[in-house]
Amino acid sequence: MPELPEVEVVRRGLAAHLLGAEFTTTEVLHPRANRGQEGSLPELLQGAVVTEVGRRGKYLWLNLGNGSTDGHSESALFVHLGMSGQMLVGQPGTVTSPHLRIRAELRAANGENLELSFVDQRTFGRWLHTDTTPEGVPEPAAHVAKDPLEPDFDLAGTARKIRTKNSEIKRVLLDQRVVSGIGNIYADESLWAAGVKPTRRASSLRQQDVVSLLEESRAVMERALAAGGTSFDSLYVNVNGASGYFARSLNVYGQEGEPCPRCGTPIRRVMWTNRSTHFCPVCQIL
Ligand SMILES: [Zn+2]
Repeated sequence: MPELPEVEVVRRGLAAHLLGAEFTTTEVLHPRANRGQEGSLPELLQGAVVTEVGRRGKYLWLNLGNGSTDGHSESALFVHLGMSGQMLVGQPGTVTSPHLRIRAELRAANGENLELSFVDQRTFGRWLHTDTTPEGVPEPAAHVAKDPLEPDFDLAGTARKIRTKNSEIKRVLLDQRVVSGIGNIYADESLWAAGVKPTRRASSLRQQDVVSLLEESRAVMERALAAGGTSFDSLYVNVNGASGYFARSLNVYGQEGEPCPRCGTPIRRVMWTNRSTHFCPVCQIL
């Protein structure tokens, strides 16, 4: 499952290749990859120009205009990568994967023809053409809270909101309506970095401790982004290729039995809400 830094790498790659490009033809090869669509995706995309590539948490989208000069965007191509979705940009006809679900051709701003392919082995992901909010956020992502890497993320306000919850802090960090983009890996890493127990009640933490925790979540994701962002200078933008690369700098996630980098105690792993939680039993004391 891609985490926020991987999705941000994909967003940057798509923006580098697709801004100003116009959709010419689109082919839906598997209806599940376009489930819930009202109207015909090929017709809706025909002539649409990519004005922006946006992201919130793990949600990704292309803002679309009609090619007029005001650049006003009222619709978007919302992309949910699911477990295994990949967005590939290249020359037309390059992608021959049996898991190719949707392919589109675009005319780039420089006149070059490009192919945008959605490859998804498990078909949990999808493309959806949708309206946007006045801020340009597609409707399926409108309920999602801002993520810690957004420039106008409200750190203190989000910390206060977290402290209104009686659930365990890890559960609250994973709630996309409170704060988005912190998946299982970065929840464990942030809690370790801030020294907070995953099972601690959110409402019992001090404001300054939650602020520190959110700052740590931003820092660990920025470090992952810095590590992974350099490996994508090719024309191909690949979500799955990124995850292994990012895994190298982790302190607790996937490190069961390894010494805690802070105190040397073996890292423990427990199953909790159907996911693995990794933590240090000694130095996560808050
Ligand atoms: Zn420790």
